[in-house]
Amino acid sequence: MRAAEIKRLAQECGFELAGIARAEPLPNDSHRYLDWVERGLAGAMGYLTDRRAIVRTDPKLLLASARSIICVAKLYNGPEARSTEVTNEMQDAGLGWISRYAWGDDYHHVVRHGLEALTAKLGGDHDYKICVDTAPLLERSYARQAGLGWIGKNTCLINQEIGSWVFLGEILTSLEIQPDSPPPDRCGTCTRCIDACPTQAIAPEGYEIDARRCIPYFTIELHGAAPQELRAAIGQHVFGCDICQDVCPWNSRAPVAQEPAFEPRHFAPPLEELAGFSEDEFRAIFQSSPIQRAKYAGFLRNVAVAMGNSKLEKFREPLQTLAAFPNPLVAEHARWALEQLCPTAASTPS
Ligand code: SF4
Ligand code: SF4
Repeated sequence: MRAAEIKRLAQECGFELAGIARAEPLPNDSHRYLDWVERGLAGAMGYLTDRRAIVRTDPKLLLASARSIICVAKLYNGPEARSTEVTNEMQDAGLGWISRYAWGDDYHHVVRHGLEALTAKLGGDHDYKICVDTAPLLERSYARQAGLGWIGKNTCLINQEIGSWVFLGEILTSLEIQPDSPPPDRCGTCTRCIDACPTQAIAPEGYEIDARRCIPYFTIELHGAAPQELRAAIGQHVFGCDICQDVCPWNSRAPVAQEPAFEPRHFAPPLEELAGFSEDEFRAIFQSSPIQRAKYAGFLRNVAVAMGNSKLEKFREPLQTLAAFPNPLVAEHARWALEQLCPTAASTPS
């Protein structure tokens, strides 16, 4: 099948971008990745550092007969304001910030569903493997090879036309398909993402993130305590952080996604409401949302930190309730948050 036909079919399946990469190792990217892991910059994210780190260096370790990778991207941008904008919502310290990608349904299902539809259109006469984010593949690197965009200084894949608010997916296939070529890096002399990062998680020259300083790591991946010295910089973020994408000029004219599953349902909820969820309510409310990944205790930890950072006296009572929580992680962060409201609050229930 010709590459142009595959790209047309990918569009029919709901993907704004599609391209083809060779299913071959990318030695420079693999080296950078393994070096990043080696230097401990992945923190405690075992799925990035265990035996799967080596699998990432060669797509044929995922599918031995792979010759090509069909790379796709699905837009998820919503119409709501960016976390860096000065609007009423942004100035309301009583609201919790949730990363744009988690405002709607879990993208894994949506992207996988689209890739299954695409494989059905390709026909069954080939070996294939569908990958959505969780597979050990250097997906941004292959997306760049497939011409979908360049990897910016904020380490996101950026497309010149639609920006970086995209989910990536891949089909490894035994089909031989004409590959695309990578576009040029268009970051130029810009340093907006590096300058705006509240925790200095991006390397001074860009193109590398220290996950151990990155807000999505503290608020999603980490099961333990957020580092004391970085808690204030977390601000109102209760799940993820978009700042380095919000400030990127290539996102300033990003189109809005048409996918109903990504309609914003969890945009900037009041912190007080989040602090009051029982575990059953947390599960029910975020049932089909990526927010589940933070787990109940991790989410309440995040809410407590955001309440502390708000400095709002109205959060004293809900924080005292969280400080009496049986889970020590939640209780400790709530005690820390109470101290941010007023130093004399350290003697609250524990
Ligand atoms: S996601 Fe937030 S904390 Fe992480 S690098 Fe970007 S701006 Fe910094
Ligand atoms: S903000 Fe500037 S430097 Fe950062 S990714 Fe966007 S264009 Fe590149």
